[in-house]
Amino acid sequence: MVRILAIANQKGGVGKTTTSINLAASLASIGKRVLLVDLDPQGNTTMGSGVDKRLLDHTVYQILLGEQTIAKVRLSTKPGKYDLLPANQELAGAEVEMVSLEQRESRLKEALQAIQADYDFILIDCPPALNLLTLNGLCAAHAVIIPMQCEYYALEGLSDLVNTIKRVRMGFNPSIRIEGLLRTMFDPRNLLAQQVSDQLKQHFGNKVYQTIIPRNIRLAEAPGFGLPVLYHDRQSRGARAYLELANEILATAS
Ligand code: ADP
Ligand code: MG
Repeated sequence: MVRILAIANQKGGVGKTTTSINLAASLASIGKRVLLVDLDPQGNTTMGSGVDKRLLDHTVYQILLGEQTIAKVRLSTKPGKYDLLPANQELAGAEVEMVSLEQRESRLKEALQAIQADYDFILIDCPPALNLLTLNGLCAAHAVIIPMQCEYYALEGLSDLVNTIKRVRMGFNPSIRIEGLLRTMFDPRNLLAQQVSDQLKQHFGNKVYQTIIPRNIRLAEAPGFGLPVLYHDRQSRGARAYLELANEILATAS
């Protein structure tokens, strides 16, 4: 059975895209069939997967508006070994254009049904907002991965996201749950990071992944080469951390 995971946090710069690309590549390197969906008009997931967002004939925008099938839009990435539904700036218009459509929150969910048997995992990289695009991600997903930096305002923003997930559960997607909270860009020498991390574990218990993603320059460099970190520097701490996360996710039942 496919596991569909949304990677969401309305804060920007917390590591959603880095996690999407590198978790997709790590799962694929273990032999899993993975589809990565870029739901952010910035197209960073697309570029970081080695696909030029300026040269796309078809994007996820057309899927949301019902103008194209997923089979037409998906690309296979090399060397990432996962499939991608790419996005670019065009997606910014979807929000407005979808308003008049029926069941506008479940457009992605409906579209994925046609191809989900092709995959073990579908990962959805959400934009940094609690908007209609993110709602489409949350409606389509079985569970949510929440990347976060352990800093002062992190917990404050988290309650808005948790409330949104609760609303989605009451409305469109009764079985959605939090898959895990992922500590990203972690610096163990930073006392505040340790304190926030402790608070997080008090609040969310075993929902906090054991795997911690360290701050690692190789993770920041890799998108510039259009590569997952695994194929930029396999030995880096970043690459090893995301492989560890993939294994932790595989070890938990779906
Ligand atoms: P988001 O998608 O949540 O906006 P990104 O994944 O794009 O966040 O990360 C924001 C910035 O931080 C990017 O420049 C990215 O390369 C960098 N970054 C993300 N995770 C790490 C990390 N663990 N170590 C170092 N830099 C990171
Ligand atoms: Mg992003």
